[in-house]
Amino acid sequence: MSLDRKTAARVLREAAALLEVQGENIHRIRALTNASRIVERIDGDLEALVESGEILEIKGVGKGTAAILRQLSAGERPDILAEAERVVPFGVREMLTIPGLGPKKVRALWRDLGLVSIGELEYACRENRLVELPGFGARTQEKLIGAIRFARIAEKRRLISQASTEATGIATSLSGIDGVAKVVVGGEVRRWCETVGSLEFVVTADDEGRVRDALSDLFPGIEPDEPLRFSALTESGLPMTVRVVSAAEAAAAILWSTGSDGHLHALAEHALSAGLRLNESGLWRGDSRVECADEQAFYETLGCQWVAPELREGEGEVARAAAGTLPELVVLEDLLGVLHNHTTYSDGAATVEEMAAAARGLGWSFFGVADHSPVASYANGLSAERLRDQWRRIDELNASMPGFRIVKGIEADILTDGSLDIPEGCEEGLDYVVASVHSAFRLTEEAQTERLVRAVTHPACRILGHPTGRLLLARPGYALDLDTVLSACVEHGVAVEINSSPYRLDIDWRWARRALDLGLKLAVNPDAHSTQGLEDVRWGVAVARKAGATKADLINCSDIDDFLNSR
Ligand SMILES: [Zn+2]
Ligand SMILES: [Zn+2]
Repeated sequence: MSLDRKTAARVLREAAALLEVQGENIHRIRALTNASRIVERIDGDLEALVESGEILEIKGVGKGTAAILRQLSAGERPDILAEAERVVPFGVREMLTIPGLGPKKVRALWRDLGLVSIGELEYACRENRLVELPGFGARTQEKLIGAIRFARIAEKRRLISQASTEATGIATSLSGIDGVAKVVVGGEVRRWCETVGSLEFVVTADDEGRVRDALSDLFPGIEPDEPLRFSALTESGLPMTVRVVSAAEAAAAILWSTGSDGHLHALAEHALSAGLRLNESGLWRGDSRVECADEQAFYETLGCQWVAPELREGEGEVARAAAGTLPELVVLEDLLGVLHNHTTYSDGAATVEEMAAAARGLGWSFFGVADHSPVASYANGLSAERLRDQWRRIDELNASMPGFRIVKGIEADILTDGSLDIPEGCEEGLDYVVASVHSAFRLTEEAQTERLVRAVTHPACRILGHPTGRLLLARPGYALDLDTVLSACVEHGVAVEINSSPYRLDIDWRWARRALDLGLKLAVNPDAHSTQGLEDVRWGVAVARKAGATKADLINCSDIDDFLNSR
């Protein structure tokens, strides 16, 4: 196993935190914390340095650190962690994952209040027991309650990318059962929700009994809740439901399984107004079933346009479908290019040439390179000199690829005061700037809003990158008055990014819808750090569709000069 700097630094930090929770010697803790910073920035092959013992020649790396790294490099669990895990209860270690809880606070909760799990901590917050604890207080307690709630939700859901991969695997297994005619993945996966809490399958079969037997062979522990509806946990721990239906029931079952509750409720209300009744078993006029061969037929019978699953969130789409005013949603094939990507010039894994070739392979006609700016030193941010070097490379490549264009951008850090980190003297030569926040997440809402408004006011700013900074299931966005920021984007002709990394999907589709209402353009960007990362645009396009975007709403779908010259 090769030893990378990030992992090594993370383990050292973890060890330092666990020592602090145990109340160990402060010098030892500081030494490890310090060493973690040094190791993260080390030049050269870390593993070779560890193996030869040369690591000890680096100032700030002591014997304790070297021993940890040696064990890591050998693929062993370092003794210091194993020992800490023996002494510190699991639930106490788990508290360290809650934002806002450092080792010192966790030690106090464990030692002074005797709390040994997040559940106990939550209860103690509700009982107001943290208010009087030194180093805490009412505000900290309130923040902790919010953080625990967030952690709870996170633990029960999965990213759409993970859930849909798991669903596809299960659907393939289900399709292999003798007698199964069709398998449809419904639920949140079919609606392309950004995170997913359960997997839903509708299996169409002639002989339902035979499928029932095969199911329990395939998924040990699967239980019927009703004769032909089964529940189990997937391998990753998500609840899943399998409904087995005859061909005649399939359309209704698929409609029902796809949901959402809000959509079905609105649809059932609409049916009532047409003198019909809609429920899980189908569409009814009095006691007789109205035959619907597929989903399309349901909507048609109800006098509605077919509603794309992405839109079925109970947000007014049924009324629009009845009025015939649903938008013609953008599709992946409408994309002509993307504008936020990284290369080996900053923290990407592929060269400009490799990235451009991959973009061309996807059928795109333009490709925007936006590597990190100078202050992003952790990501090898570009100096003016290296940026100009990149431009020369881009010019050469552009000359060799007729019909395809690499556009020159940068992902400029938004500094704490809202100014943009653009390399000295490079503004003129850049085709565009993506402005993003990568630091100072904890400003007050007021300061953060002011910072972003100032950033989008900068004349070079064309796209606001990952606007809220959220990491799905891991970190909520920073405190922000997004409405004010979006209004500033309108005023200054700045497009709003849908960052398509499945870990971000930022801006959220609900806010993307708001942006469209305000008349903003959206930019679906993969923020790719490898050629494979380009394919993340599928998640971003899904967000755009959930927001109700047409191809005219995306800067990706027309001549790139239209956008570049639009300001
Ligand atoms: Zn970024
Ligand atoms: Zn980026």
